[in-house]
Amino acid sequence: MPAPGELTFVAPRGAAKPPRHLADLDPQERREAVAALGEKPFRAQQLSRHYFTRLTDDPAEWTDVPAAARERLAGALLPRLMTVVRHLACDDGATRKTLWRLHDGTLVESVLMRYPDRVTMCVSSQAGCGMNCPFCATGQAGLDRNLSTAEIVHQIVDGMRALRDGEVPGGQARVSNIVFMGMGEPLANYRRVTGAIRRLTDPGPDGIGLSQRGITVSTVGLVPAMRRFAEEGFACRLAVSLHAPDDELRDTLVPVNTRWKVAEVLDAAWAYAERSGRRISIEYALIRDVNDQAWRADLLGRLLKGHGAHVNLIPLNPTPGSKWTASRPEDERAFVAALERQGVPVTVRDTRGQEIEGACGQLAAAER
Ligand code: SAH
Repeated sequence: MPAPGELTFVAPRGAAKPPRHLADLDPQERREAVAALGEKPFRAQQLSRHYFTRLTDDPAEWTDVPAAARERLAGALLPRLMTVVRHLACDDGATRKTLWRLHDGTLVESVLMRYPDRVTMCVSSQAGCGMNCPFCATGQAGLDRNLSTAEIVHQIVDGMRALRDGEVPGGQARVSNIVFMGMGEPLANYRRVTGAIRRLTDPGPDGIGLSQRGITVSTVGLVPAMRRFAEEGFACRLAVSLHAPDDELRDTLVPVNTRWKVAEVLDAAWAYAERSGRRISIEYALIRDVNDQAWRADLLGRLLKGHGAHVNLIPLNPTPGSKWTASRPEDERAFVAALERQGVPVTVRDTRGQEIEGACGQLAAAER
């Protein structure tokens, strides 16, 4: 029994709403929020420029804002959303994984991958994931909660700042690509993810000014959300985590397939391709003796042929305690060859960051 006055309150994981942040709001809402604090509405744009263009949320640097107003504006609109638990680097620093602790103790990950010609950031859209795919580390722990728009955006702002400040070996650089392939199912957190895409792509100072063409949203195949994404006119790349061409196997690898079948998922993908003018990426984790048979490659090729899709084969990154492992090299080669025979473009993904538990959710799982 704690003595009176010693009561400690431990919030359940994922219970509390994240604090409101500038990046949660569109430009009009920002002006209203600033006005509600008794400040001139134009301060909203000053704050936006500090955050989205100068990448700073430190009020000490806001020399164009009166000192007396800085703390109040910062407290109300730029609260600290997350703290770095640790950074892990490999590939001589070119791959850097960040483990974040959110305000309520939940853990999420982001990964920055630097290549000679581009920088890709892989970000989380949810703390945990409710999709329950048995080969995925995040899927094993279930869903804690959705991330807020600002919690998504801040992962990228922090990476951009690190690159600008030379904290990533190789000199200054900018983020060129963003992939929603960290923790979570982005289309299950539709409103906040699309809000984040708007913050990332709105021209400065309202947003960061990146191109939608450099952003990839990866989904298990939530058909209604895929259709909505098309109808709302997004031009991001859409990646579909297929992992099996037949419903019988896909029902077990991607359990949401029991709700939306392979054919429905692909129809929605082709509709997105038509509307957006973007090629679909098909993600396929090659799992030894599970989904890597030549006949499945043939079937996959027949489903995709003529639709301009590109297949990304991912050698399975085994999760702790899993009985599954990556395909044999000869089976991988035969799978590639079968797709190529049907004229379907295919690449095998480079498996950066394996030694820093780069696979979806592994770092957060290890911390727990
Ligand atoms: N929920 C979304 C995005 C997150 S994961 C989705 O499923 O598409 C990004 C990709 O990594 C998905 O294709 C996912 O199936 C794959 N993935 C997850 N765990 C993996 C593992 N252990 N090895 C290889 N790929 C994995």
